[in-house]
Amino acid sequence: MKPLLIGGDRVTTSHVVPNVNPSDTEDVIDSHAQAGRAEAQQAIAAAAEAAPGWAMSGPQERHDILHRAGAEVLAREEELGRLLAREEGKILPEAMAEVRRAGNILLFQAGEALRQYGEAIPSVRPGVLVEVTRAPVGVVGIITPWNYPIAIPAWKIAPALAHGNTVVFKPAELVPGSAWELCDILHRAGLPDGVLNLVTGPGSVVGQEILDDPRVAAVSFTGSQQTGHRVAAASLPHGRRVQLEMGGKNPLVVLDDADLDRAVGIALDGAFFSTGQRCTASSRLIVTEAIHDRFVSALAERVAALRVGDALDPATEIGPVVDSIQLQQDVDYIAIARAQGGTLRAGGELLRCSRPGHYLSPALITETTPQMRINREEVFGPVASVIRVRDYDEALAVANDTEFGLTAGICTQSLKYASDFKRKAQAGMVMVNLPTAGVDYHVPFGGSKGSSFGPREQGRQAVEFFTTIKTAYTAP
Ligand code: NAD
Repeated sequence: MKPLLIGGDRVTTSHVVPNVNPSDTEDVIDSHAQAGRAEAQQAIAAAAEAAPGWAMSGPQERHDILHRAGAEVLAREEELGRLLAREEGKILPEAMAEVRRAGNILLFQAGEALRQYGEAIPSVRPGVLVEVTRAPVGVVGIITPWNYPIAIPAWKIAPALAHGNTVVFKPAELVPGSAWELCDILHRAGLPDGVLNLVTGPGSVVGQEILDDPRVAAVSFTGSQQTGHRVAAASLPHGRRVQLEMGGKNPLVVLDDADLDRAVGIALDGAFFSTGQRCTASSRLIVTEAIHDRFVSALAERVAALRVGDALDPATEIGPVVDSIQLQQDVDYIAIARAQGGTLRAGGELLRCSRPGHYLSPALITETTPQMRINREEVFGPVASVIRVRDYDEALAVANDTEFGLTAGICTQSLKYASDFKRKAQAGMVMVNLPTAGVDYHVPFGGSKGSSFGPREQGRQAVEFFTTIKTAYTAP
């Protein structure tokens, strides 16, 4: 049984829940203590108590702790990858890549702890010196989704700690194992008690308690748009800063001049890898007329050939859907798309594998129009739809015809269209001849429009959310 981590103590509770493997629902990986309101309050109190000390800690100490933790994560890549694949369902190579990413984020942000520069500016008043420095925000609440069980927690927790904040971390209910390992590693790397607190439990209880507590100065959230809006609304009365990374309905435009094989590979990866459960997944494939039929035929063939199965089976290309609720949502959206006139060109069937799991063959739906629900609402599964358009101008208009704006991609050999798309696509991240999913860890991550709110995550820009600027004036 894995406990909570509060004030440096491993805390057990009477209520525990099993961590179930979506590839084999008879496989219980572990059980995890569940926090309630009381434990959430204790965690916030511990973080508040530790905040002044950690804010005054030196950059070397913060660097060394994050560096040690990053090195351990990287050294345990396969073991942690197996746990991640087992609890979330992405295949082992993807899970190991995610663990590597988390380790590299810790190392990068360790360096950021050393790069906390300020500015010294002559005042307009003679003899007065102005100093602009950054200070920690205080207690940060971190609330994460299930689809990146270790990378998303790492990319929020590492900069929060590097910049001198203390943390109350509530991971998604479905993936407590990776969250525990990350916190245990950071704690053993030398964090003082109370600097990082783990409260595993339901969002409506533990998450809500974090939102309701005025001691929490900032909340960094990734998850659905619905919950994100709740986080923002609950934070407003406290005047709390919030960072929200939410859903996507990411377009991949394929133009007539695209290299067909390459475009098909990019669409296959962007739409279906990691079981399509990526906020950056290409869920709308917007294809111009002259290449449409060839692209759809080739993609349908590749989709039908994808091997779905146990995440730990080396032959598997697509793991299971994360749980029965998400599976039902995927199946419902396929039915809605068909009812509204879409054609199920490949997949979309519930599969039986050797073990009981949430298996769905990746679904490709063609003959869809921009107004259909399948092209407006996030499915968050291995489901992609194709929209046929006349030309680049219509493709761009359709790509931008969404409330979301996380990523957008284009496959073309035309410098003119690639350049225009980079400029005009309404998205925080734009990909040319690359899948919409798959981003670097050392550069900013985030979206525009309804996908994101607040400063960017990752890279050097992470400093914006996790610090506040102080301007000091000194007269001789
Ligand atoms: P979710 O919104 O259901 O849950 C996210 C987190 O919020 C969980 O930890 C949950 O317990 C918590 N939560 C739920 N209710 C709460 C409440 N009342 N108060 C406080 N916390 C609460 O999302 P999910 O199903 O875990 O994740 C899938 C979603 O995440 C998708 O919409 C996906 O697009 C999005 N996502 C976005 C990004 C991004 O960077 N934009 C990355 C990954 C996932």
